[in-house]
Amino acid sequence: MANTPQFGFFHGTPGTQSLRPHDGRRSNLSLLLQSLYDEPQLTRADLARKTGLTKVTISDLVTELIEDGLILETGLSTTIRTGKPAVTLAVRDDTSDIIALDLAHPDRFRGGVLSLRGESRAEEVVSLDGELGDKALEAILDLIGRCIARATQPILGIGVGSPGIVDAEGTVIAAPRFNWADVKLQTIIAHRFHLPTVVQNDANVAVLGERAFGQAGPDVIRIQIARGVGAGLMLAGSLVLGATAAAGEIAHVVIEHQGSLCTCGKHGCLETWIAEPVLRARLDADSADRTAILQEAGRRLGIALSPIVGVLDIPEIIIGAPEGLIDESFLDACSQLITERTHTDFRRDITLKTSSLGDEAVLLGAVSLVLRTTLGVS
Ligand SMILES: [Zn+2]
Repeated sequence: MANTPQFGFFHGTPGTQSLRPHDGRRSNLSLLLQSLYDEPQLTRADLARKTGLTKVTISDLVTELIEDGLILETGLSTTIRTGKPAVTLAVRDDTSDIIALDLAHPDRFRGGVLSLRGESRAEEVVSLDGELGDKALEAILDLIGRCIARATQPILGIGVGSPGIVDAEGTVIAAPRFNWADVKLQTIIAHRFHLPTVVQNDANVAVLGERAFGQAGPDVIRIQIARGVGAGLMLAGSLVLGATAAAGEIAHVVIEHQGSLCTCGKHGCLETWIAEPVLRARLDADSADRTAILQEAGRRLGIALSPIVGVLDIPEIIIGAPEGLIDESFLDACSQLITERTHTDFRRDITLKTSSLGDEAVLLGAVSLVLRTTLGVS
């Protein structure tokens, strides 16, 4: 089994650290790492210019990051300046592994060993047969153990995207699918494996993945269409959890007052229109009208999203959906309805597109969760 790395600026107790850097030095180390994530091949002088820190401070911080194995010197700058050529720096991705878990699928748990750049190094999958309660928890712990066994580098941390309402401490407040209530998943994993651990709702994790490894901007909402419907909301690059950690729980917002009965007891929830099983059943029942059905479903999603776009001035919406379920007619109808309902002279049109990360969004988001928590980079 790989060992826990002893990074100079990771001083937190596994599983209990805050999501933001605590002190000035750690904050400066994060700032440097973020700069090199955003723009590899910077020199120490470039970093001083970009960050506003003194050259002496930069030199000191760079030495620490090199000793921690997080960055390396890559060569000489090709930019011509007076004096001798300066040495360029880049983030290393060969000295640490991250364990990422995607618990979003109804029939399996996925775990991966990934690099700091999100490259997959190994994958483990556990098939599920409706496991509930402690059995589901044991399957998760077993999966993590198997992933750790396959890691070849020190493990920076464990990131988990879980169904349900998950608070800022990684406690799953409610996940009906596993019959869980107040399961302290983050603490349980951290104590079992003695590694920095962070657990968040799968839809929230997916939007982090789009930001870090897709092309998403800092203000974005990501809708996940699956057996249910979920959303992750990011504003100014930060996840929005809400007062009860239920931000993004959009599935049971009523969008049609006389609509179909929903599993929650209300009528006409968004989920009764666009959840995968419902939409597939509609398409199978009337395959001749595929485009019309998808357009209507797209408009229903637009009805739910318009007030959110109007209030928060969100410029970008990303939709994650199972392969082949929705198409351009869905996206166009949704986009058109939102534009009709929210257009003003001062607001530009929204961008609405399908996820470029597809099935990898939650795993990559779990990597981002670990990077944000342990190194302060997004
Ligand atoms: Zn409902």
